[in-house]
Amino acid sequence: MAGEIKVCSVPVFSGSSESSELYLAGLTAYLWEVGKTLRVRFLDGDSATQAKVESIAHQWSQFANIKFQFGNDSDSEIRISFTREGSWSQLGTGSLQVDRNEPTMNFGWLKHDSPDEEYSRVVLHEFGHALGFTHEHKHPDSGIKWNRDAVIAYYRRTNGWNEATTVSNVLEAESKDETQYSKFDPDSIMLYAIPAELTEDGFSTDWNTQLSATDKEFAKLLYPFDGSVLYIRTFDGQMFGTVSAIQEVSSSDGFRGWSWDGTTASYVAVDGSGKSTLYIRTFDGQQFGNVTSTQTLSSSDKFRGWSWDGATASYVAVDGSGKSILYVRPFNGTTLGTITSQQEVSSSDRFRGWSWDGATASYVAVDGSGKSILYVRPFNGTTLGTVTSTQTMSLTNRIRGWSWDGSRASYIGAEQP
Ligand SMILES: [Zn+2]
Repeated sequence: MAGEIKVCSVPVFSGSSESSELYLAGLTAYLWEVGKTLRVRFLDGDSATQAKVESIAHQWSQFANIKFQFGNDSDSEIRISFTREGSWSQLGTGSLQVDRNEPTMNFGWLKHDSPDEEYSRVVLHEFGHALGFTHEHKHPDSGIKWNRDAVIAYYRRTNGWNEATTVSNVLEAESKDETQYSKFDPDSIMLYAIPAELTEDGFSTDWNTQLSATDKEFAKLLYPFDGSVLYIRTFDGQMFGTVSAIQEVSSSDGFRGWSWDGTTASYVAVDGSGKSTLYIRTFDGQQFGNVTSTQTLSSSDKFRGWSWDGATASYVAVDGSGKSILYVRPFNGTTLGTITSQQEVSSSDRFRGWSWDGATASYVAVDGSGKSILYVRPFNGTTLGTVTSTQTMSLTNRIRGWSWDGSRASYIGAEQP
């Protein structure tokens, strides 16, 4: 690429701190709901250029469970212009904060006769931002030894950027805490080309023009098609905080209940033959340890929620007549004791998750319109008190397990095929 170096610059968000920007490394807070169809509208540009952009953008949908529907909908989440300066895109759901008449993505230098490789490089890159992926060179573990002065001089010369812009776009590493990141990937479409003159040790990379293996893997992880995904985030009983971890959990198991106390996870999953099995294993929030106990649960009950605090288990199961029954009984990790409490819970609610800490119950149920609703209410082991909080949870992530310890929620969402 002779002459001018064309580098994507990501708009800086208003209202959210720089530190809440994440990366491929996906910006966790900026991810769309899994399975969402994003509407894309061109605000200008000739039809040949538009058609090329569209054909390339769809490549992401082979790996990420997100669809792009190109059209003229005035409520389109992604709005593309070719008339602004530079190439850039809002990060993920950040585009929702942009005025509806303004572009959320721009291709300032794409012309109908631009080389195919340039189309591929820029369109895949900007749509990666639109999915919530940030610049790979800002990876927390990139290990790139930048020559700071050379970098600032270089982008001033080639792109007219001031120091702050270069720091934000290139030099500043993202925070590990707020990023879902994989290993640094020198082949990522989200990486700038790095000339050797910009690094202390001569490290360099060329322009990447295709999705790398890691790009594809990461897209599948953050936007899985058929897997179950575990989310961990703060919840104070009223408000959900930022998702701090997302990970794919076995897609062959059909989850029916999930409980986690910060160190030990226990969950119920249904296997291909319809058996419900309870698993217990360590889980530190990132890594699962070996399964320490498994047991087959009553096959006639259809489990809809499971909670265990190390001594007492409580769970919701659907009996033969279709009633949802809440059971409480001792459980020491290997043997379930005698049921101490049993009661029918509303049969019109379809339970999808249950958590109980001995004083407060929280559970997810699907209402008549298909919405997943989270309820919080006191429960002393025999009587459910008045609901103190309700809120609607994601529609497309079908909840398959729910756990809440009063400050941290973890839950499993399963995509419908
Ligand atoms: Zn970029």
